Amino acid sequence: MAKISINMKEGKINEQKEIIIGIDLGTTNSLVAIVNEGKPETIKINDSSSLVPSIIHFADNGKVVVGAEAKTKLITHPLHTIFSIKRLMGKSYGDLSQKQSLGYQIIDDSTESLVKIKVGDTFYSPIELSAEILKELKKIVEAYIDQPVSKTVITVPAYFNDAQRQATKDAGKLAGLNVLRIVNEPTAASLAYGIGLDSSTKTIAVYDLGGGTFDISILRIEDGVFEVLSTHGDTYLGGDDIDNAITRFWIDQYKIDMDQMDSSLRQELRIKSEEAKITLSDNDTYKANIGTLNLEISKIDFTKLVTPIIDKTIELCKKALKDAEINTSDLDQIVLVGGSTRIPELQSRISDFFGQQVFTELNPDEVVALGAAIQADVLAGNNKDVLLLDITPLSLGIETVGGLMDVIVPRNSKIPIKAGRNYTTSVDGQKNLKVSVFQGERDLVADNRKLGEFILKNIPPMPAGLPKISIHFIIDADGILRVKALEERSNTETEIEIKSQYGLSEEEMAKMLLDSMQHATEDMKIKALIEARNEGNGIVLATNKFIEQNGWLEDQDKTELLKLRDQLIHQLKQGDKDDINGAMETLNTFSRPLAEIALDKNVAKALHGKDL
Ligand code: AMP
Repeated sequence: MAKISINMKEGKINEQKEIIIGIDLGTTNSLVAIVNEGKPETIKINDSSSLVPSIIHFADNGKVVVGAEAKTKLITHPLHTIFSIKRLMGKSYGDLSQKQSLGYQIIDDSTESLVKIKVGDTFYSPIELSAEILKELKKIVEAYIDQPVSKTVITVPAYFNDAQRQATKDAGKLAGLNVLRIVNEPTAASLAYGIGLDSSTKTIAVYDLGGGTFDISILRIEDGVFEVLSTHGDTYLGGDDIDNAITRFWIDQYKIDMDQMDSSLRQELRIKSEEAKITLSDNDTYKANIGTLNLEISKIDFTKLVTPIIDKTIELCKKALKDAEINTSDLDQIVLVGGSTRIPELQSRISDFFGQQVFTELNPDEVVALGAAIQADVLAGNNKDVLLLDITPLSLGIETVGGLMDVIVPRNSKIPIKAGRNYTTSVDGQKNLKVSVFQGERDLVADNRKLGEFILKNIPPMPAGLPKISIHFIIDADGILRVKALEERSNTETEIEIKSQYGLSEEEMAKMLLDSMQHATEDMKIKALIEARNEGNGIVLATNKFIEQNGWLEDQDKTELLKLRDQLIHQLKQGDKDDINGAMETLNTFSRPLAEIALDKNVAKALHGKDL
């Protein structure tokens, strides 16, 4: 294994196997970290901070600027300055709920394709834009260690779906980085606290309240294996909402006329609101002026403003605990992540809710990046192997006859996973089989989300029901899905990697789960009807074949069979599940003795002429 000398800035020479970097690619800020002499550290961009604002500015001279400098252009050049790009990763235009609130232009070319952002005359995908941020982080770390890097671990929210993970991986590739692993943010946060690096078994909650998003994840860690038991969150809840609440408080308090408020006053108010929030972490009051306007807010008023926001997060924590089927008393540790968890009132409320002290020793802005660096170090072979195990947020399956969803990987399955099932053809001589892959909890595929489809071609002609087609879903450690279809008798195989353009937002995921619960009874009825129809259609075909192949049938039996068959066809068109089942039963009762005679005749024929 190659040993590389790393010339650290302080002049130290450090010998390690290889430097693999850890990246926290955040909605508001991003960070890069490495393990240096066995200790994880984030790379500082100035004396006080490692945070690189996740903002990209396209300057008039064609230069791309990322980070703090780009942030200064948000107000002056909104159409050329892109922020919150993480919210668009792996999303189609139809997926977006709050597109109007972004200052830049999002292009709607068709509802199923990935969103594009228009800057000047050029169109960019969120992947290309995220790649710009990653390139900047790569540059920062290369300058610090004074040598090129090419491998990385990138963190994503635990609820990120396949398309969003794939998009993140692609962004890495575009930035010239080989993304060795996509790691869940809560998993990284636990690693930063050393949780999971020994062989103890623990159940922990990772509470992450950043600038714009909230996530709660419940993890079980056993022998270094991380399992995400559940996740909940709100992609539009965070420190920004607290800032807005303070701004609104001042507008009410000082009767500021909204119509008179220009964008620079609005911006000033926003900046002062954030300053007030941060100041009130350590002080009882905050005072400031904007021109002749004297602003003031007390800790008591501030607490009133943050309470409903904390309440919302606690409701989501309760849901996550319920999904994981555990109580607060089952938790061994609570890890806090995200800048907003610095608020003392929040820390004490969360600590009260969980009934125990919360972990706050590490800088909450840095924990995820530090954990990513630890995972990267493990992959570089510098640490004992730590396995990561995640879960699928929604069920995955394929469409079967009648538009039914046949689940192959159920929701909350641990990944990596390989699961499969056998299918066959429904028509004689069928050559092709279309495999459509869906994600969701409803019984009908029409209510779920299509991830992709492919056709298994060149199945040799065989009677219906004879081909043995196995369909396998393989989800790797990064949560990326491959689907394989194999006709076993002929060894015909087709495979696709689901590079879905059909992203799914967390709200949509929550909505789909809710829908599935609300529609469970209705779905079951439709499912039963479709199943009865499928069975009935099979019996009609079998009856036709039976009459055709058995010339010895008496005329009156044949007439009766045809009559009962037609009654079944009639019920298949208009009857409900019970009518269809009734018609099938009558036909079966009549045809069963005839089928037995036919079987005897066939056996006799087969034996005819044979020496026994
Ligand atoms: P993150 O997205 O994790 O970087 O968190 C950024 C959020 O944390 C922003 O809304 C900041 O205003 C907020 N924040 C940073 N420091 C503090 C603090 N001391 N008290 C309250 N909020 C803070």
